[in-house]
Amino acid sequence: MKYTVQKGDTLAKVAYLFKVRPFDLLLFNPHIYSEQSYLYPGLDLHVPSINRDLPLIGDDVHTNLEFGQTDIENKIPELRNKGIHVEIIGYSVMNQPLYAFKIGEGKKEIFYSGGWHANEWHTSKFLVQYIEQLAEHKQNKTLWNGYDIDKILNDITLYIVPLVNPDGVDLVLQGIYPSHPYYEDVLAINKGMKRFEHWSSNIRGVDLNHQWPAGWEIEAVESPQEPWSRHYSGKAPLTEPEAMAVYTFTNKHSFSHVLAFHSQGQVIYWGYRGMEPLESKEMVERLSLLLHIRPFIQLKVMEGIRIGLSKKRVGLDSLWRLGLEQIHYPLKHLPRFGPTTVCLHLKD
Ligand SMILES: [Zn+2]
Repeated sequence: MKYTVQKGDTLAKVAYLFKVRPFDLLLFNPHIYSEQSYLYPGLDLHVPSINRDLPLIGDDVHTNLEFGQTDIENKIPELRNKGIHVEIIGYSVMNQPLYAFKIGEGKKEIFYSGGWHANEWHTSKFLVQYIEQLAEHKQNKTLWNGYDIDKILNDITLYIVPLVNPDGVDLVLQGIYPSHPYYEDVLAINKGMKRFEHWSSNIRGVDLNHQWPAGWEIEAVESPQEPWSRHYSGKAPLTEPEAMAVYTFTNKHSFSHVLAFHSQGQVIYWGYRGMEPLESKEMVERLSLLLHIRPFIQLKVMEGIRIGLSKKRVGLDSLWRLGLEQIHYPLKHLPRFGPTTVCLHLKD
């Protein structure tokens, strides 16, 4: 049968959809060169017919599948049914909605976010599954690793923005193609290269994690001076709509804890120029012991980033493990961090 590639598709995702192997799609589509090839929206694929009772792949493959904006949007009705409140906090450069999910009714507000860096879409997948599991335990009034989630969520309201950089994630998953509105710009920024595994920035080549009006000038001096796949701070703080949306959202609330999830190192960055609350240290040490991740206090703005870059990319399994282990803390006992967002870098 014929299948037309949709926004957000990858070879692995299409293969999973039809219960064939990515390799089977290569056999029947000579215009796709390798399992690493990008599939552009609108591309036609021939999908071999097989007996669906004898799937060629196992269900565990799902764990390794890429995850982006369309996956979140497909999931929203299900999340709503599970009692999760969904709101749009702003729009990306390419006008994609930035979703915030909310669960719980407590006075204390906590904020998690992920998908800041385009090649760290694992964090978006993790956060969506995490809130979904919380919702199931709340709805069914079941314990999760011994914790009474329903009770905890009476004291706490948890907000999750799972994907801050949807345009960037789409680029990492599908590459660039002539009908893409930023085709010329992205190719120029990427010096003509057509692979994007290394891309962390948003679609305009600005690193959203460098956009804060908190030591921005210091960080900008040591960063690339023009749009680039990573670390370019932009011409000024908050020039990018994605960063501005999270900034505005954060200011509208009085969050007691703010955690930003990243996945390129084995380190917890915490603290902010000694301005963090006193209890931060103890809480970070507890988290560190539990996860076997080294804590690293950020006294100067850039220090932590250098360390993070020397670390290996994490695998998806560790994110699942983090999800299980992290819940060993009741939510209300999660570490309190300083006034800036914190990179929670995960173990390999
Ligand atoms: Zn990151």
